[in-house]
Amino acid sequence: MEKQTPEQKKCRGLRSSDHEQISFFSAKKNESFPRVPVCQKKKRCQICGILKIVETPALPIIAAKYRFDSEFIYLVLEIILSAMYWLWLPLSFTILIWLYIDHQSTKSFSDFLFSSWYVFFFFLGTVFSYFVSFGYIRMNSIKVGPDQFPEIWKIVQDRSENLGLKTVPSVFILNGMGVMNAFAAKLVFRRVVILYSDLINVLVEKNDYQLLDSVICHELGHHALSHTSVLNWFLFPADLIPFLGVALSRSREYSADRIMKVAMHNDSACEKALVYLAAGRGLGSFVNVDLFYNQRHEEGGFYAWLAEKLADHPHLPNRLAAIRDYKLPEAS
Ligand SMILES: [Zn+2]
Repeated sequence: MEKQTPEQKKCRGLRSSDHEQISFFSAKKNESFPRVPVCQKKKRCQICGILKIVETPALPIIAAKYRFDSEFIYLVLEIILSAMYWLWLPLSFTILIWLYIDHQSTKSFSDFLFSSWYVFFFFLGTVFSYFVSFGYIRMNSIKVGPDQFPEIWKIVQDRSENLGLKTVPSVFILNGMGVMNAFAAKLVFRRVVILYSDLINVLVEKNDYQLLDSVICHELGHHALSHTSVLNWFLFPADLIPFLGVALSRSREYSADRIMKVAMHNDSACEKALVYLAAGRGLGSFVNVDLFYNQRHEEGGFYAWLAEKLADHPHLPNRLAAIRDYKLPEAS
């Protein structure tokens, strides 16, 4: 064991950048700062020269292993139905041209052929408004980076590595106006995570990094499972089919929740993150989580069932139960 001078004992870093990190929350205690799974090895510090234990991120989580069971079925169904539409589109166009030249068509048949193009025009409009809305968000929210909310940036960087993402998503903090939420998206090649400001408020008020970490793991889970891939745009026609599009979306939420559970190794933090979505930042920490878990039995029934089948997110107590009841493959 090498003897350390008092100066060397004070030195906590291995690279000069470790010493330079400026903490936005430095006034607060960071005891709850998330600890992503790490491997430890010894390395000589470049500053004080002492051998120290260096923590490097553990092997990335293979996200596909934790995909929710029905996601694959809904995805295959959507691919088949969407492929049929995209193949039909040029065919219907060809028939329309041929009918026009030949003057053989009845008006109702031409209208039928043309109506299939409405979906395509709707698709173009949706893609256009998608980019416009992100243009607004990118300019009217706070972009997180090494010098802007560095702790949040560090969590996103560590978790991206933890989940095997090749690029760290751009992160923006959007004014939540009381709503606690977050979402992941992809602007062609650029991964994006939007965090609503009320999530960050919990972090600031309660110094609760676990909540934010859980939410970030869930959103990065969507990226790791390719839920945000541009290829999903081609599923647009099948997404419009009642019940089917939202069913795929719900199964993807369960998948991302599983990634959150695997990455966090802290079920109560994951469950609490869902409870906050229901109760809001003021009451979230006072909710009896077990009673909320049981609420799915007490308040179930036809209309609750139907409401879920029409929604793109599962009911929160169902998500909570899925997290609590899911056994990790390694443990089984
Ligand atoms: Zn989600």
